[in-house]
Amino acid sequence: MTQPTSSPTSDSFRHLLTNTDRFIVAVELETSRGLAMEESSSRALSLARRLAGSNPVDLICITDNPGGNPHIRPEVLGYELLARGQEVVINFSCKDYNRNGVESRLWSLGSLGFDNVLALTGDYPITGHAGGPQPVFDIDSVGLLEVMRHMNGGLEVPSRRAGGDPYTLRQTSFFPGVAINPYKSVESELLPQFFKLGLKLRTGGEWAVTQIGYDSRKLDELKKYAAANGMDIPMLGSVFVLNAPAARMFNRNGIPGVTVSDDLLHLAEKHARSEDRGRAFFEEFAAKQIAVLRGIGYRGVYLSGRLPLSRIRRVLEIETSFGADDWHDFAKEIQYQKPGEFNYYERDPGTGLCSDQVNHRYLESKTDRALKRSRRSVPLAYKAGRAAHNLVFDRGALGFGAARWAYERVGNRSRTGKLMHFAEQAVKIPAFGCQDCGDCSLPDIAYMCPESQCVKNQRNGPCGGSHDGICEIGDKRCIWVKAYERTKAYGEEDGMLDRPVVFKNGALRGSSAWANAFLGRDHNAQEHARDEAGAPTSSDARRSAESTD
Ligand code: SF4
Repeated sequence: MTQPTSSPTSDSFRHLLTNTDRFIVAVELETSRGLAMEESSSRALSLARRLAGSNPVDLICITDNPGGNPHIRPEVLGYELLARGQEVVINFSCKDYNRNGVESRLWSLGSLGFDNVLALTGDYPITGHAGGPQPVFDIDSVGLLEVMRHMNGGLEVPSRRAGGDPYTLRQTSFFPGVAINPYKSVESELLPQFFKLGLKLRTGGEWAVTQIGYDSRKLDELKKYAAANGMDIPMLGSVFVLNAPAARMFNRNGIPGVTVSDDLLHLAEKHARSEDRGRAFFEEFAAKQIAVLRGIGYRGVYLSGRLPLSRIRRVLEIETSFGADDWHDFAKEIQYQKPGEFNYYERDPGTGLCSDQVNHRYLESKTDRALKRSRRSVPLAYKAGRAAHNLVFDRGALGFGAARWAYERVGNRSRTGKLMHFAEQAVKIPAFGCQDCGDCSLPDIAYMCPESQCVKNQRNGPCGGSHDGICEIGDKRCIWVKAYERTKAYGEEDGMLDRPVVFKNGALRGSSAWANAFLGRDHNAQEHARDEAGAPTSSDARRSAESTD
């Protein structure tokens, strides 16, 4: 197979981001449902061809089953673009593949010459042929980053011969990107997003793209927080060129994680009544957003909204017509927050953006007195889980050795082993909604079961699809919002994601998670064993990232 391109060239995305200070223009393309020769697909291909090599556009990013709908794979469209020398980003969403499917697709992407991969968990799949699909969510965006990290280092795989030595596969050269949603309205949603960004960077993310949003203060906040916490990687800001139907859909949370406030919706409705249905207004609005991104220090724009090339050019032309300092006014103008929205930094009255002062109410909520007060409303299940962990399940706990001794003496299949598993379930099902996955993540998520309480089974932090603290599916509060509140009551929230990447071991389903913990079979024990053996682990990546912070 001929590989169109795989090494960094002078105009590769990697080179532009890491060796130049050029402001990158990325345009999102969406594939469609049906064969590549269907009219809708050929429209996307013809736009892609016109965009390829077209002057203002550096990068074409191709979506992957957006909105949870089945579309043709982005690499079908991207391969021709690569052959034309166009830089392409494949948006890789994990929702439709298990880890073998993920790895297989990564080998295919690497072989075809796609290096730039934007790691996404993906929206919950909602439509499919003859009914709703069975969601996969085996691994999430962090797991995908970890797989790429291992493949870039040369993946070690077991020998196919019995007793043979493992061997190492040829290294890939993925340039992994990550998504971050800074447009969250409550503290317990926003800060876990920042913590997850940290975990993604420690797992190999090298650049980031924000979610779509219309708030310059939140964009500034993300940059400031990242700089203050050793996470200052190159970031592109998403600009979706709005229209009234899209504003209505975003306002009713029609796309998970994308927000349009009521004020912005009214503005969109007002301009939609004009003769050009607000086109000129929305183009200028998008151009102002790009100017703000440039002014704040973002490395580029990720432009979306299914636009023809003429409108893309128009937006970019308007932006270049602005004066160098105009963005300051635009930044004050484009701040569409919900009433009472949380901001990590206080507002700077001069710029309207963030000052260096952390939100004083937030700081007050972290005083000993305030924490003691909030501890009173922490559920008993969390307190009991914490106590049991500290007494028995923690590797250094007094009871750990005794419990291991007991489990070593009873086999899984023995009568006593089955009774012990039954006793475990009798506690965990009513207390935590345990689903008997055998690889327990209760201590990872403040004693909430991701199997029963998170539709995407997110074990490495929140997915980004929540709104006002509510899960993107149904009307329950996101488990990571609750996990933040529970851990904050003990002053431990900052470290809630300061740990290795969790991969649930599917082979353990239906077995005793307690036995697996004490006998070294669950994900915690496996990570500990790799650490002890000196094998490179995600903890090492974390430590090495920390040492360069
Ligand atoms: S519970 Fe939270 S992490 Fe899980 S799917 Fe809902 S919003 Fe995403």
